[in-house]
Amino acid sequence: MIIKNVKLITEENKVIEAEVKIEGERIAKVGKNIQDSSEEILNGNGKLLLPGGVDNHVHIYKRYLKVPTSDDVRRSTEAAVLGGTTTVIDFAFVDREPNLDERIEQFKDSVTNYSFHIFANKISEELSKIFDRGFKSVKFMMIEYGGLKSNLYDLVKLNEFVEKRGGYIMVHAEDEELIKALSEGKKGEPLLHMLTRPEESELAAVARVNAIVSRGLIAHTSVGRSLDIIDQNRIKAEVVLHHLILDKSVFNRKDSYMFVTSPPVRDPEELWRRIDKIFMIATDHNWFDRDVKEAHKEFPDLVPGLPGVELRVPIIITEFIKRRLPLSRAVKLLSENPAKFNGLDTGIIKEGYRADLILYDLNTKWKISVDTTHMADWTPYEGYEVIGKVDITIVNGEIVVENGEIVSQKRGQLLYNHDL
Ligand SMILES: [Zn+2]
Repeated sequence: MIIKNVKLITEENKVIEAEVKIEGERIAKVGKNIQDSSEEILNGNGKLLLPGGVDNHVHIYKRYLKVPTSDDVRRSTEAAVLGGTTTVIDFAFVDREPNLDERIEQFKDSVTNYSFHIFANKISEELSKIFDRGFKSVKFMMIEYGGLKSNLYDLVKLNEFVEKRGGYIMVHAEDEELIKALSEGKKGEPLLHMLTRPEESELAAVARVNAIVSRGLIAHTSVGRSLDIIDQNRIKAEVVLHHLILDKSVFNRKDSYMFVTSPPVRDPEELWRRIDKIFMIATDHNWFDRDVKEAHKEFPDLVPGLPGVELRVPIIITEFIKRRLPLSRAVKLLSENPAKFNGLDTGIIKEGYRADLILYDLNTKWKISVDTTHMADWTPYEGYEVIGKVDITIVNGEIVVENGEIVSQKRGQLLYNHDL
Protein backbone atom coordinates (compact mmCIF):
# COMPACT_ATOMS: atom_id res chain seq x y z
CA MET A 1 0.00 0.00 0.00
CA ILE A 2 1.16 3.53 -0.71
CA ILE A 3 -0.28 6.36 1.36
CA LYS A 4 -0.31 9.50 -0.77
CA ASN A 5 -1.22 13.11 -0.22
CA VAL A 6 -0.50 13.31 3.51
CA LYS A 7 1.42 15.73 5.70
CA LEU A 8 4.13 14.58 8.10
CA ILE A 9 5.57 16.52 11.02
CA THR A 10 9.35 16.56 11.05
CA GLU A 11 11.62 16.50 14.07
CA GLU A 12 12.09 20.29 13.59
CA ASN A 13 8.31 20.76 13.71
CA LYS A 14 8.03 21.43 9.98
CA VAL A 15 5.02 20.15 8.08
CA ILE A 16 6.06 18.38 4.88
CA GLU A 17 4.15 16.58 2.16
CA ALA A 18 5.19 12.99 1.76
CA GLU A 19 4.23 9.50 0.73
CA VAL A 20 4.65 6.35 2.76
CA LYS A 21 4.97 2.90 1.28
CA ILE A 22 3.97 -0.08 3.38
CA GLU A 23 5.14 -3.60 2.65
CA GLY A 24 3.53 -6.27 4.79
CA GLU A 25 3.69 -5.09 8.40
CA ARG A 26 6.45 -2.55 7.90
CA ILE A 27 7.15 0.87 6.53
CA ALA A 28 9.17 0.27 3.36
CA LYS A 29 9.78 3.83 2.25
CA VAL A 30 9.10 7.45 3.19
CA GLY A 31 9.56 9.94 0.39
CA LYS A 32 8.04 11.71 -2.59
CA ASN A 33 6.58 10.36 -5.82
CA ILE A 34 7.01 6.75 -4.85
CA GLN A 35 6.29 4.88 -8.08
CA ASP A 36 4.73 1.48 -8.04
CA SER A 37 1.77 0.87 -10.30
CA SER A 38 0.87 -2.47 -8.76
CA GLU A 39 0.29 -0.95 -5.35
CA GLU A 40 -2.97 -0.15 -3.64
CA ILE A 41 -3.20 3.61 -3.05
CA LEU A 42 -4.62 5.25 0.05
CA ASN A 43 -5.38 8.93 -0.53
CA GLY A 44 -4.87 10.88 2.68
CA ASN A 45 -6.61 13.99 1.30
CA GLY A 46 -3.99 16.28 2.79
CA LYS A 47 -4.52 15.11 6.35
CA LEU A 48 -1.83 14.60 8.96
CA LEU A 49 -0.12 11.20 9.09
CA LEU A 50 1.19 10.44 12.59
CA PRO A 51 2.82 7.42 14.17
CA GLY A 52 0.27 5.34 16.08
CA GLY A 53 0.12 6.15 19.78
CA VAL A 54 2.09 4.07 22.29
CA ASP A 55 0.48 4.04 25.72
CA ASN A 56 3.14 3.06 28.24
CA HIS A 57 0.73 2.54 31.13
CA VAL A 58 -2.61 0.72 30.95
CA HIS A 59 -4.48 -1.70 33.20
CA ILE A 60 -6.69 -3.60 30.79
CA TYR A 61 -8.85 -6.49 32.02
CA LYS A 62 -7.40 -6.07 35.51
CA ARG A 63 -8.55 -9.01 37.61
CA TYR A 64 -5.79 -9.11 40.22
CA LEU A 65 -7.00 -6.46 42.67
CA LYS A 66 -10.05 -6.46 44.95
CA VAL A 67 -12.26 -4.67 42.41
CA PRO A 68 -11.96 -5.87 38.78
CA THR A 69 -12.13 -3.41 35.88
CA SER A 70 -15.33 -3.45 33.79
CA ASP A 71 -13.64 -3.96 30.42
CA ASP A 72 -12.28 -6.89 28.50
CA VAL A 73 -9.20 -6.91 26.30
CA ARG A 74 -11.10 -6.52 23.04
CA ARG A 75 -13.24 -3.57 24.19
CA SER A 76 -10.38 -1.56 25.71
CA THR A 77 -8.08 -2.13 22.73
CA GLU A 78 -10.87 -1.28 20.26
CA ALA A 79 -11.30 2.00 22.13
CA ALA A 80 -7.52 2.45 21.87
CA VAL A 81 -7.35 2.13 18.06
CA LEU A 82 -10.47 4.28 17.62
CA GLY A 83 -8.52 6.99 19.44
CA GLY A 84 -5.28 6.45 17.51
CA THR A 85 -3.32 4.30 19.96
CA THR A 86 -1.82 1.24 18.27
CA THR A 87 0.36 -0.18 21.08
CA VAL A 88 -0.41 -0.58 24.77
CA ILE A 89 1.92 -1.69 27.55
CA ASP A 90 0.19 -3.44 30.43
CA PHE A 91 1.50 -5.39 33.42
CA ALA A 92 2.22 -8.96 34.50
CA PHE A 93 3.58 -10.46 37.72
CA VAL A 94 6.65 -12.64 38.10
CA ASP A 95 5.53 -15.32 40.51
CA ARG A 96 1.87 -14.67 41.15
CA GLU A 97 -1.23 -14.46 38.99
CA PRO A 98 -1.53 -13.29 36.37
CA ASN A 99 2.01 -14.04 35.25
CA LEU A 100 3.46 -13.14 31.88
CA ASP A 101 2.18 -16.21 30.04
CA GLU A 102 -1.31 -15.77 31.45
CA ARG A 103 -1.35 -12.12 30.38
CA ILE A 104 -0.09 -13.01 26.89
CA GLU A 105 -2.92 -15.54 26.61
CA GLN A 106 -5.49 -12.91 27.72
CA PHE A 107 -4.21 -10.43 25.13
CA LYS A 108 -4.76 -12.83 22.20
CA ASP A 109 -7.93 -10.82 21.65
CA SER A 110 -6.09 -7.47 21.50
CA VAL A 111 -6.69 -5.22 18.51
CA THR A 112 -3.54 -3.19 19.29
CA ASN A 113 0.01 -4.42 19.57
CA TYR A 114 0.95 -5.00 23.19
CA SER A 115 3.76 -5.59 25.61
CA PHE A 116 4.19 -5.86 29.37
CA HIS A 117 5.99 -4.31 32.31
CA ILE A 118 6.82 -6.82 35.03
CA PHE A 119 5.68 -6.19 38.59
CA ALA A 120 8.61 -7.26 40.76
CA ASN A 121 9.70 -5.86 44.09
CA LYS A 122 12.63 -8.29 44.38
CA ILE A 123 15.22 -9.87 42.13
CA SER A 124 14.72 -13.55 41.35
CA GLU A 125 15.67 -16.34 38.98
CA GLU A 126 12.25 -16.00 37.38
CA LEU A 127 12.73 -12.30 36.71
CA SER A 128 16.03 -13.09 35.04
CA LYS A 129 14.29 -15.58 32.73
CA ILE A 130 11.69 -12.98 31.81
CA PHE A 131 14.50 -10.55 30.87
CA ASP A 132 15.94 -13.31 28.65
CA ARG A 133 12.60 -13.35 26.83
CA GLY A 134 12.84 -9.65 25.98
CA PHE A 135 10.77 -7.97 28.70
CA LYS A 136 13.04 -5.54 30.48
CA SER A 137 11.04 -3.09 32.51
CA VAL A 138 10.47 -3.82 36.16
CA LYS A 139 7.57 -2.10 37.89
CA PHE A 140 8.53 -1.38 41.48
CA MET A 141 5.77 -0.39 43.91
CA MET A 142 6.80 1.85 46.83
CA ILE A 143 3.38 1.24 48.38
CA GLU A 144 1.85 -2.15 49.13
CA TYR A 145 0.12 -3.45 46.01
CA GLY A 146 -1.33 -6.80 45.04
CA GLY A 147 0.52 -8.37 47.96
CA LEU A 148 3.89 -6.86 46.98
CA LYS A 149 5.79 -5.09 49.73
CA SER A 150 8.61 -2.67 49.15
CA ASN A 151 11.85 -1.69 50.85
CA LEU A 152 14.87 0.27 49.74
CA TYR A 153 17.26 -2.69 50.01
CA ASP A 154 15.30 -4.55 47.32
CA LEU A 155 15.27 -1.42 45.17
CA VAL A 156 19.08 -1.22 45.46
CA LYS A 157 19.34 -4.89 44.45
CA LEU A 158 16.96 -4.42 41.53
CA ASN A 159 19.00 -1.47 40.39
CA GLU A 160 22.17 -3.60 40.36
CA PHE A 161 20.25 -6.19 38.37
CA VAL A 162 19.09 -3.67 35.76
CA GLU A 163 22.57 -2.14 35.54
CA LYS A 164 23.85 -5.58 34.57
CA ARG A 165 20.95 -6.76 32.42
CA GLY A 166 19.77 -3.58 30.69
CA GLY A 167 16.20 -2.35 30.82
CA TYR A 168 14.89 -0.01 33.47
CA ILE A 169 12.89 0.33 36.69
CA MET A 170 9.47 1.94 36.48
CA VAL A 171 8.54 3.21 39.93
CA HIS A 172 5.22 3.96 41.57
CA ALA A 173 6.58 6.72 43.78
CA GLU A 174 4.47 7.43 46.85
CA ASP A 175 5.52 7.22 50.49
CA GLU A 176 3.78 4.38 52.25
CA GLU A 177 4.67 5.46 55.80
CA LEU A 178 3.29 8.94 55.33
CA ILE A 179 0.09 7.77 53.65
CA LYS A 180 -0.50 5.17 56.38
CA ALA A 181 0.03 7.67 59.17
CA LEU A 182 -2.26 10.25 57.59
CA SER A 183 -4.97 7.66 56.87
CA GLU A 184 -4.99 6.17 60.36
CA GLY A 185 -8.58 5.99 61.62
CA LYS A 186 -9.94 8.18 58.79
CA LYS A 187 -13.20 7.34 57.10
CA GLY A 188 -15.59 9.41 54.99
CA GLU A 189 -15.63 11.76 52.01
CA PRO A 190 -13.46 11.11 48.92
CA LEU A 191 -11.49 14.31 49.58
CA LEU A 192 -9.69 12.30 52.26
CA HIS A 193 -8.06 10.32 49.46
CA MET A 194 -6.29 13.50 48.31
CA LEU A 195 -5.52 14.75 51.83
CA THR A 196 -3.86 11.48 52.78
CA ARG A 197 -1.76 11.45 49.60
CA PRO A 198 -0.24 14.95 49.71
CA GLU A 199 2.44 16.23 47.34
CA GLU A 200 5.09 15.49 50.00
CA SER A 201 4.32 11.80 49.68
CA GLU A 202 5.35 11.79 46.01
CA LEU A 203 8.24 14.23 46.48
CA ALA A 204 9.79 12.13 49.26
CA ALA A 205 9.49 8.95 47.23
CA VAL A 206 10.86 10.56 44.05
CA ALA A 207 13.86 11.85 46.00
CA ARG A 208 14.68 8.33 47.14
CA VAL A 209 14.33 6.92 43.64
CA ASN A 210 16.60 9.68 42.40
CA ALA A 211 19.20 8.69 45.00
CA ILE A 212 19.22 5.01 44.03
CA VAL A 213 18.08 4.26 40.49
CA SER A 214 20.47 4.47 37.50
CA ARG A 215 17.92 3.95 34.74
CA GLY A 216 14.35 4.59 35.72
CA LEU A 217 10.96 5.99 34.95
CA ILE A 218 8.69 7.69 37.47
CA ALA A 219 5.19 6.39 36.70
CA HIS A 220 2.27 8.85 36.68
CA THR A 221 4.25 11.85 38.00
CA SER A 222 1.54 14.06 39.49
CA VAL A 223 3.48 16.86 41.20
CA GLY A 224 5.23 19.56 39.17
CA ARG A 225 8.14 19.81 41.60
CA SER A 226 8.89 16.08 41.16
CA LEU A 227 10.08 16.98 37.68
CA ASP A 228 12.62 19.43 39.16
CA ILE A 229 14.12 16.80 41.49
CA ILE A 230 14.95 14.02 39.07
CA ASP A 231 18.26 13.77 37.26
CA GLN A 232 16.95 13.60 33.69
CA ASN A 233 20.04 11.73 32.49
CA ARG A 234 19.11 8.73 34.61
CA ILE A 235 15.45 9.03 35.37
CA LYS A 236 12.60 9.97 33.05
CA ALA A 237 9.11 11.12 33.90
CA GLU A 238 5.87 9.61 32.72
CA VAL A 239 2.83 11.84 33.18
CA VAL A 240 -0.68 10.55 32.60
CA LEU A 241 -3.62 12.15 30.83
CA HIS A 242 -5.87 12.84 33.82
CA HIS A 243 -3.13 14.67 35.73
CA LEU A 244 -2.73 17.02 32.76
CA ILE A 245 -6.45 17.72 32.30
CA LEU A 246 -8.34 17.30 35.58
CA ASP A 247 -7.62 19.30 38.72
CA LYS A 248 -8.39 19.04 42.41
CA SER A 249 -11.67 20.92 42.01
CA VAL A 250 -13.20 17.53 41.12
CA PHE A 251 -13.20 16.92 44.89
CA ASN A 252 -15.86 19.65 45.22
CA ARG A 253 -18.23 17.62 43.09
CA LYS A 254 -21.05 15.53 44.57
CA ASP A 255 -19.77 12.57 42.57
CA SER A 256 -16.11 13.15 43.46
CA TYR A 257 -15.71 9.41 44.17
CA MET A 258 -15.90 8.91 40.37
CA PHE A 259 -12.68 10.91 39.89
CA VAL A 260 -10.45 9.17 42.41
CA THR A 261 -7.04 8.09 41.12
CA SER A 262 -3.71 7.19 42.77
CA PRO A 263 -1.95 9.54 42.91
CA PRO A 264 -4.85 12.01 42.95
CA VAL A 265 -5.35 14.73 40.34
CA ARG A 266 -3.85 17.99 41.61
CA ASP A 267 -2.73 21.03 39.64
CA PRO A 268 -2.21 20.38 35.89
CA GLU A 269 -0.63 23.79 35.24
CA GLU A 270 2.30 22.86 37.48
CA LEU A 271 2.96 20.00 35.04
CA TRP A 272 2.31 21.99 31.85
CA ARG A 273 4.78 24.67 33.01
CA ARG A 274 7.41 21.94 33.00
CA ILE A 275 6.35 20.20 29.80
CA ASP A 276 10.00 20.13 28.66
CA LYS A 277 10.85 17.89 31.61
CA ILE A 278 8.18 15.32 30.74
CA PHE A 279 9.44 12.34 28.74
CA MET A 280 6.23 10.55 27.89
CA ILE A 281 2.47 10.85 28.31
CA ALA A 282 0.52 7.70 29.13
CA THR A 283 -2.95 7.09 30.63
CA ASP A 284 -2.95 4.62 33.55
CA HIS A 285 -6.18 3.49 31.85
CA ASN A 286 -8.60 1.75 34.24
CA TRP A 287 -12.09 1.19 32.85
CA PHE A 288 -14.55 1.18 35.75
CA ASP A 289 -18.22 1.54 34.89
CA ARG A 290 -20.41 3.82 36.97
CA ASP A 291 -21.93 1.07 39.13
CA VAL A 292 -18.47 -0.05 40.25
CA LYS A 293 -17.46 3.44 41.36
CA GLU A 294 -20.86 4.00 43.00
CA ALA A 295 -20.52 0.87 45.07
CA HIS A 296 -17.40 2.40 46.69
CA LYS A 297 -18.21 6.02 47.54
CA GLU A 298 -16.35 6.45 50.83
CA PHE A 299 -12.72 6.65 51.89
CA PRO A 300 -10.90 4.31 52.32
CA ASP A 301 -13.13 2.00 50.30
CA LEU A 302 -12.77 4.03 47.05
CA VAL A 303 -11.87 2.56 43.65
CA PRO A 304 -9.02 4.56 42.08
CA GLY A 305 -8.64 4.66 38.31
CA LEU A 306 -10.04 6.37 35.20
CA PRO A 307 -10.64 5.31 31.60
CA GLY A 308 -8.34 7.09 29.15
CA VAL A 309 -6.76 4.93 26.47
CA GLU A 310 -9.04 6.23 23.69
CA LEU A 311 -8.63 9.93 24.48
CA ARG A 312 -4.93 10.43 25.11
CA VAL A 313 -3.91 11.17 21.51
CA PRO A 314 -6.81 13.50 20.58
CA ILE A 315 -6.79 15.42 23.89
CA ILE A 316 -3.02 15.91 23.97
CA ILE A 317 -2.95 17.06 20.33
CA THR A 318 -5.77 19.50 21.20
CA GLU A 319 -3.87 20.84 24.23
CA PHE A 320 -0.67 21.28 22.23
CA ILE A 321 -2.57 23.26 19.59
CA LYS A 322 -4.39 25.41 22.17
CA ARG A 323 -1.18 26.04 24.12
CA ARG A 324 0.81 26.73 20.94
CA LEU A 325 3.33 24.02 21.72
CA PRO A 326 5.09 22.22 18.85
CA LEU A 327 3.18 19.18 17.58
CA SER A 328 6.49 17.44 16.91
CA ARG A 329 6.94 17.35 20.68
CA ALA A 330 3.45 15.89 21.20
CA VAL A 331 4.34 13.09 18.79
CA LYS A 332 7.51 12.38 20.77
CA LEU A 333 5.62 12.20 24.07
CA LEU A 334 2.75 10.13 22.68
CA SER A 335 4.60 7.67 20.44
CA GLU A 336 8.32 7.92 19.83
CA ASN A 337 9.68 8.21 23.37
CA PRO A 338 7.61 5.43 24.96
CA ALA A 339 8.42 3.11 22.03
CA LYS A 340 12.15 3.88 22.12
CA PHE A 341 12.45 3.64 25.90
CA ASN A 342 10.88 0.17 25.76
CA GLY A 343 12.92 -0.94 22.75
CA LEU A 344 9.81 -1.42 20.59
CA ASP A 345 10.02 -1.22 16.79
CA THR A 346 7.12 1.19 16.44
CA GLY A 347 6.20 4.80 17.29
CA ILE A 348 8.02 6.53 14.45
CA ILE A 349 7.43 6.97 10.71
CA LYS A 350 10.66 5.51 9.44
CA GLU A 351 11.77 2.78 7.08
CA GLY A 352 11.88 -0.64 8.74
CA TYR A 353 9.57 0.21 11.61
CA ARG A 354 6.10 -1.24 12.06
CA ALA A 355 3.46 0.37 9.91
CA ASP A 356 1.46 1.57 12.91
CA LEU A 357 0.00 4.84 11.69
CA ILE A 358 -2.93 7.19 12.07
CA LEU A 359 -4.49 9.65 9.70
CA TYR A 360 -5.57 12.65 11.76
CA ASP A 361 -8.09 15.16 10.45
CA LEU A 362 -7.37 18.55 12.03
CA ASN A 363 -10.45 20.12 10.46
CA THR A 364 -12.99 18.28 12.57
CA LYS A 365 -14.11 19.43 16.00
CA TRP A 366 -16.15 17.34 18.40
CA LYS A 367 -17.25 17.16 22.04
CA ILE A 368 -16.46 14.31 24.40
CA SER A 369 -19.43 12.46 25.87
CA VAL A 370 -20.38 8.84 26.51
CA ASP A 371 -22.03 8.79 23.07
CA THR A 372 -18.95 9.99 21.20
CA THR A 373 -16.48 7.64 22.94
CA HIS A 374 -16.15 3.90 23.48
CA MET A 375 -14.97 3.52 27.07
CA ALA A 376 -17.06 2.94 30.20
CA ASP A 377 -20.65 4.15 30.66
CA TRP A 378 -19.44 7.60 31.82
CA THR A 379 -16.49 9.82 30.99
CA PRO A 380 -14.34 12.04 33.22
CA TYR A 381 -13.84 14.40 30.24
CA GLU A 382 -17.52 15.20 29.60
CA GLY A 383 -17.90 18.29 27.42
CA TYR A 384 -14.21 18.64 26.51
CA GLU A 385 -13.87 20.02 22.97
CA VAL A 386 -11.44 18.10 20.83
CA ILE A 387 -9.63 19.56 17.84
CA GLY A 388 -9.27 16.92 15.14
CA LYS A 389 -10.27 13.32 14.85
CA VAL A 390 -8.66 10.01 14.05
CA ASP A 391 -9.85 9.10 10.57
CA ILE A 392 -7.90 5.96 9.86
CA THR A 393 -5.83 3.73 12.11
CA ILE A 394 -3.35 1.27 10.66
CA VAL A 395 -1.87 -1.51 12.82
CA ASN A 396 0.92 -3.69 11.39
CA GLY A 397 0.18 -2.43 7.87
CA GLU A 398 -3.54 -3.16 7.98
CA ILE A 399 -6.37 -0.61 8.21
CA VAL A 400 -8.32 -1.41 11.40
CA VAL A 401 -10.28 1.85 11.79
CA GLU A 402 -11.93 3.82 9.02
CA ASN A 403 -14.39 6.70 9.51
CA GLY A 404 -14.56 6.08 13.22
CA GLU A 405 -15.42 2.41 12.90
CA ILE A 406 -13.59 -0.86 13.39
CA VAL A 407 -13.25 -2.43 9.94
CA SER A 408 -10.95 -5.39 10.58
CA GLN A 409 -10.94 -8.47 12.75
CA LYS A 410 -7.15 -8.57 12.67
CA ARG A 411 -5.43 -8.98 16.06
CA GLY A 412 -2.30 -7.19 17.26
CA GLN A 413 1.04 -8.70 18.16
CA LEU A 414 3.14 -9.17 21.25
CA LEU A 415 6.12 -6.80 21.07
CA TYR A 416 9.49 -7.36 22.72
CA ASN A 417 12.36 -5.13 23.75
CA HIS A 418 14.86 -5.08 20.90
CA ASP A 419 17.32 -2.72 22.58
CA LEU A 420 16.91 -0.26 19.72
ZN1 LIG B 1 -1.01 2.12 36.99
